[in-house]
Amino acid sequence: MRLTNKIALITGAARGIGQAIAEQFAAQGATVIVTDVDDKTGQAVATAIGDSAVFRHLDVGSEEAWLLLCAEIQETYGRLDILVNNAGITGFMSHPGPFDPEHLDLASWHAVHRVNLDGVALGCKHAIGLMKKSVAASIVNISSRSGMVGIPAAAAYASSKAAVRNHTKSVALYCAEKGYPIRCNSIHPGAILTPIWESMLGEGDAREQAIAAIAADIPLQHMGTPEDVAFAAVYLASDESKYVTGAELTIDGGILAGSSARPPTREK
Ligand code: NDP
Repeated sequence: MRLTNKIALITGAARGIGQAIAEQFAAQGATVIVTDVDDKTGQAVATAIGDSAVFRHLDVGSEEAWLLLCAEIQETYGRLDILVNNAGITGFMSHPGPFDPEHLDLASWHAVHRVNLDGVALGCKHAIGLMKKSVAASIVNISSRSGMVGIPAAAAYASSKAAVRNHTKSVALYCAEKGYPIRCNSIHPGAILTPIWESMLGEGDAREQAIAAIAADIPLQHMGTPEDVAFAAVYLASDESKYVTGAELTIDGGILAGSSARPPTREK
């Protein structure tokens, strides 16, 4: 029970990595506020966790939504101990693109940054006030391996994740300078098999072949699971990491350890 007595908010927690983090945090003793734009699935995640979880609708790109939810958290709990800024999109499913540097569609570029970057900045902004009342608070920002390398076909995603990597360090230093009891670190997952990949994998045999092709490019030779990221989030959220701030933790099966780090498909 490494998170006993901690109040934790996780964004984009209706599925994938956010869901796994919510489940692990609850298993470690935290009270979990599961948030997402997908109310039905998000509520189901909170219900399955049980009494230690509640679901609240939160569109991370809306400052008004953050203000409303933080006011409720203040009223209910009087503080926040953990924020995981996890919600993120590639834009492939929801926006027309294209997303390459030469032809990018500006509206699609802004839409991706609204969720991936504005959402993280707003989360940090509004959580800091609540976290000042904590004894030991932690913000965990889910960036990506793409925050460290470029992706030609997903330039907005890569740009937004690089900005999250850097903003994490500004938040960490700001809170340290102010003497706030708040640490801030980033996690950089790579090739974690979740629904975010579905638009890129296809179906049936093609899907299996695509997964095998991705795995072949990973030093550990397989894609990761949401739990691989959740265990790292538990460490950064807990007081075990009390001397860790402004740091980045890569969870990618070794992709970034070498020079390869290329996307799974190349334009011919
Ligand atoms: P998923 O697509 O499986 O889950 C993301 C969740 O975020 C969905 O429930 C989605 O809801 C929700 N969401 C989308 N837009 C918003 C919004 N505006 N406000 C709140 N929630 C929103 O993704 P993953 O679990 O794979 O990814 C989680 C994080 O990890 C993301 O930031 C992603 O970029 C990052 N990441 C993932 C990697 C991977 O390989 N899986 C690798 C590197 C980083 P809905 O379905 O309704 O859109």
